[in-house]
Amino acid sequence: MSAKAAIKSDKQWTNIIFFGVSFLIAIIVVPWYGIQYGYHFSSWAWGIGLWLFSSTSISMGYHRMWSHRAYEGHAVLRFIMAFGGCLALQNSALHWSSDHRIHHKHVDHDHKDPYSASRGFWHSHIGWLLKRENEHKRYDEQYDRCPDLKRDPIVMFQHKYYWLLSVGLNIAIPALLGLITGHFWEMILVAGVWRLVWSHHLTFFINSLAHIWGTRPYTEENSARDNIVLAVLTGGEGYHNYHHKFQYDYRNGVRWWHFDPSKWWIKALSWIGVTKNLKSVSKDKIEKAKAETLLLKAKEKTAHMPNAEELMAKLQHEYEVFLDKLNQTYQARKEWLEAKKNELAESYDKLDLRQEYEELKKSFEIQKANWLQVTKQYT
Ligand SMILES: [Zn+2]
Ligand SMILES: [Zn+2]
Repeated sequence: MSAKAAIKSDKQWTNIIFFGVSFLIAIIVVPWYGIQYGYHFSSWAWGIGLWLFSSTSISMGYHRMWSHRAYEGHAVLRFIMAFGGCLALQNSALHWSSDHRIHHKHVDHDHKDPYSASRGFWHSHIGWLLKRENEHKRYDEQYDRCPDLKRDPIVMFQHKYYWLLSVGLNIAIPALLGLITGHFWEMILVAGVWRLVWSHHLTFFINSLAHIWGTRPYTEENSARDNIVLAVLTGGEGYHNYHHKFQYDYRNGVRWWHFDPSKWWIKALSWIGVTKNLKSVSKDKIEKAKAETLLLKAKEKTAHMPNAEELMAKLQHEYEVFLDKLNQTYQARKEWLEAKKNELAESYDKLDLRQEYEELKKSFEIQKANWLQVTKQYT
């Protein structure tokens, strides 16, 4: 039996009809209603507000807290994220996380990765939801790759009543808003259907576009890419190359100025104790990953040049010098920070260590510029 024949694939008619009809309403009926009757500002304000709330619940809650355990959240936050997850209509946190953990483990594998980008845009975007392959293999084990989530009563409550809650809320909230404001059909169209379709496809872009379009500064071992446009549209999820390299980091956009509202929320909430145990990767590991990726790219480019051997030796040498400087600098930083914390250490010792670190940092920056210059010619 061929590998292909062993894959059992069933069409998911409920999903096909639901995604198809909601999409058509969003692209035809929503603009038609606007042209015909016009919209009130409040309808769009609620539509956008509910989109931001539900997509933040997916990014901060489903993705970074539950799937990756990049930080721990207080019960109140978990409850709010579970509520927002119902509104986002992307299945329960347990189900979503189970799929997502497999995605990271088997990324780009044609059949093991549930939304593998190796099977093209359509499959990774929405095609995987319109048919289910080997469903029994993935879920019969009762989500056994998520024993930690099974111990979370909020996750299990949401899972048990997921469809009742999510279908109910997605109808009740826009309808209630419509009755309160007196713009019933506007709220149904904008805060209900448009908001849902818009947020669905933006999340789906992380599985499709963020594995096709963008840069790969941290690793080329998989198809995930960093993409600022998607980061802006998805609350920071678009830094997907960094995320696939360091999935346990609560940040996706690693620099403080990278557009990543979920990261800013998680950090800000840690100041009042709502989030804790935030995991982040050290700067030297990140620098090392970037240097390694550059080295591999440069080696690939030079492999076919006439003097390939000589160039590769040069690149390897520059890389090792750079790595050496990197290790020295971060070791000095560590020693200085430890001394700073130690009340018994003499102040002149602390000063010495600080000066040593700052000098190393300067020469590291020079070495880094040199390394970037060398690799630039070949990447
Ligand atoms: Zn991915
Ligand atoms: Zn992830």
